[in-house]
Amino acid sequence: MKVVIVGGVAGGAGAAARLRRNNESAQIVLFEKGEYISFANCGLPYYVGGAITDKAALQLQTPASFHARFNVDVRVQSEVVKVDPREKTVLVKNHANGTEYTESYDKLILSPGAAPIRPAMEGADGEQVFTLRNIPDTYRIKEYVEQRRPKTCAVIGGGFIGVEMAENLKEAGLDVTIVEAQDHLFANIDTDMSYDIHGHLRAKGVKLCLGHMLESIRPDGVMVSGGAFIPAEMVLLSIGVRPETAFLADSGIELGKRGEILVDEYMQTNEPDVYAVGDAISVENFVTGEHVVIPLAGPANKQARIVADNVCGKREAYNGSQGTAVAKVFDMTVASTGLTEAQVQKLGLPYHKTFTFSQSHASYYPGGKPLFLKLIYSPEGEILGAQITGYDGVDKRIDVIATAQRAGLTVWDLAELELSYAPPYSSAKDPVNMAGFVACNVLEGRTDPFFVEDLSTLSEDALWLDIRTGGEYERGTIPGFVNIPLDDIRQSLDRIPKEKELYITCQVGLRGYVGERILKNLGYKVHNLSGGYRHYAAFKADQEARAHESVSRAECGMED
Ligand code: FAD
Repeated sequence: MKVVIVGGVAGGAGAAARLRRNNESAQIVLFEKGEYISFANCGLPYYVGGAITDKAALQLQTPASFHARFNVDVRVQSEVVKVDPREKTVLVKNHANGTEYTESYDKLILSPGAAPIRPAMEGADGEQVFTLRNIPDTYRIKEYVEQRRPKTCAVIGGGFIGVEMAENLKEAGLDVTIVEAQDHLFANIDTDMSYDIHGHLRAKGVKLCLGHMLESIRPDGVMVSGGAFIPAEMVLLSIGVRPETAFLADSGIELGKRGEILVDEYMQTNEPDVYAVGDAISVENFVTGEHVVIPLAGPANKQARIVADNVCGKREAYNGSQGTAVAKVFDMTVASTGLTEAQVQKLGLPYHKTFTFSQSHASYYPGGKPLFLKLIYSPEGEILGAQITGYDGVDKRIDVIATAQRAGLTVWDLAELELSYAPPYSSAKDPVNMAGFVACNVLEGRTDPFFVEDLSTLSEDALWLDIRTGGEYERGTIPGFVNIPLDDIRQSLDRIPKEKELYITCQVGLRGYVGERILKNLGYKVHNLSGGYRHYAAFKADQEARAHESVSRAECGMED
């Protein structure tokens, strides 16, 4: 059996290695158009920022080491420019010497990945404009930063690559502005989970220009929608990726609207003996069953194992992607799994959501850090998605929820999960349990949450109560909320007319729930602010910072 593989990184190299482990006698030829194979794409931003200093650490395998270990015929600087599934051949361009030749295959595995989108606009090909996908891109950026010493950089696009690069360019000493067309960073996070992320980036000195589209690039900066100009001696474009499948255009291999390769659950294309994996394919969304493109390393690696097994005669299915993701934002961690609320709304699915603030470990043990968790679930308790921000233990909690979601567990199961506990690591009620408890309370009608976005439409006839202590109330409250501390509620019932609907807030929602239960048990109609005053304060701080961000552009003589 002769297996030809196109693409030598996560999907391609992973498939080659598994194939060899499955079959010692197969002939395996791996074509990679670049110079490097099996490199650490996900580590590239950290080489720019200096956290990774050893160039060699970026290369997990070289063509020689890969050949020595796996006996794979690795051909770098070799681009597959055409595929002919009827003849079972590929046409290869050797970039080292400019020649072209045909190679035959019995089985073909495509893993060409996805390339950064470069907009067709004025200035996009300037020498100060970069994208980041591979090792040569990384060296170019690092060299530019070290040799040309730009002072300012505009990062266009606030997804995980953009934010990671913003952090690393800031660490390298640049004054960085992230320009993002949406009203918030990270497409896998809802607006209401982004306030703390924005605040953290601002506190670290990264400027944000949210809700603005890039319009043109000049040698000294970028113009964005609304006429604002952002000074930038360097520009990093990270506005998304597109499957790199132009070479398949006339092949007969079926592609989707964005050029993604269409495969079945066995990673097989419509053409016999042609398979595809990784960022270039569309997969089933694990939650909705829709076909989507989810360009992440975990799915690519798992698909690589499956495709290698299937090429060797097994029939193993890939059961879809949840899009579980985690990113470092300086010392904060941002993570998500499944659907966002925005996606759930777009699909018109019925849902509930809850916000829970917990400490990463027992509050009495030193070093605990706040952890903010949003859980989205169906009226039947099915986990639709989760998002977490925090400083410690975020990755562990999102992985527990991702595992629960994959296993088909419900919010009642989250409440029941027996998770490891000792004070330095967690609490006897882990943040995941807490999210489960609150969700169960919602579904069982024990609590009626309301949300920060509801504040502008609350009934004037209702009574709005802040049940934190007097001191907390004095330091700041939500306009219109009157203070009756939780522990005084039972003595203050004469100030709480029974016919009034009550909207309660506390600091994070927990005391609010206790107050809600006291009053509900006395026959009141009560709602509790999910996420509490802390979430409201983060929202207000974000709004105020945004207003200031637009003012400062206007002050520079630019209209916003
Ligand atoms: P790729 O890794 O892109 O490999 C495809 C290879 O195919 C490329 O080297 C390309 O040159 C080659 N190729 C393309 N066309 C041809 C052709 N016609 N002939 C020959 N060769 C060809 N994911 C995460 O889950 N977590 C992270 O933290 C994370 N961080 C990232 C950071 C950066 C900067 C980048 C760029 C990506 C990051 N990713 C991350 C995404 C992850 O790297 C990808 O999901 C994964 O590498 C996809 O693997 P792949 O094999 O499909 O594609």
